Amino acid sequence: MKCNVCNSKLIFIFTKKVLYKYDVDYFQCSNCQFIQTQSPYWLKETYKNNTLGVLDVGAVNRNVLMVEISERIINALFPSASKFLDFGGGTGLFVRMMRDKGYNFYRQDKYSENIFAKYFDINDLKDFTKFDLLTAFEVFEHFENPIDEINNMLLLSDSLLFSTELQPENNIEDWWYFVAEEGEHISFYSIETLREISNRLNCFFFTDGSSIHFLTKRRFPIDNKKFKRILFPLRIVVYRKLIEKLFLCKHRRQKRQSLIKKDFNYIKSKLNSSNQ
Ligand SMILES: [Zn+2]
Ligand SMILES: [Zn+2]
Repeated sequence: MKCNVCNSKLIFIFTKKVLYKYDVDYFQCSNCQFIQTQSPYWLKETYKNNTLGVLDVGAVNRNVLMVEISERIINALFPSASKFLDFGGGTGLFVRMMRDKGYNFYRQDKYSENIFAKYFDINDLKDFTKFDLLTAFEVFEHFENPIDEINNMLLLSDSLLFSTELQPENNIEDWWYFVAEEGEHISFYSIETLREISNRLNCFFFTDGSSIHFLTKRRFPIDNKKFKRILFPLRIVVYRKLIEKLFLCKHRRQKRQSLIKKDFNYIKSKLNSSNQ
């Protein structure tokens, strides 16, 4: 077996229990740091499992954040763009939210039912022209053959805005992103991996350094620093701090902590005990 990204030699790193029963080997590429599982024979089982996604308690929050981020990127880099595609768009919630804000988004997803964006599916489009921008949130880690998949995405649009968590520097074995309980995540990227992909596909590559990335065949007048500024504008950071200081300090201190992380661990422990 070779690296699914760059074809270099793989190094065995550890074994994890996938779907509570399969001992699955994980490998890392000696060249681009890409981590992949052994050939994922359990995927069929994973995707027909009806508890699919029960651990994805962050899904709604992620949609809200991705709407903000997409809006900033589109306004800054695609001000006159007219057609967008959300690839692997799931229930269509993101597409609906973007359409609510005036962005002409369509949904694509081979595996999941379109609930919120009916009539705005890629299959509803009669004439095919390329999309100005394709978004793909939490999709890349599901790819069995990243290069083929990304090549196909580039046929749909020259520019891809996507999210996938980058590998942590230390304690990689404990990384929550493996989610071996559900067996869906099989491909894990580092900055090096994404650079390798970008070079192979003749793209320009930008990243926030942790989870939001941008691959494009077009030449934009930005560097990586500017890209980050578009994602996280200084004015918003400063403004928030100022508001907190001036008016909201009392309320801010009482602001409740999100329950996402707690719920994730709770559901995980529930699953663990029912699968023992
Ligand atoms: Zn590689
Ligand atoms: Zn996922």
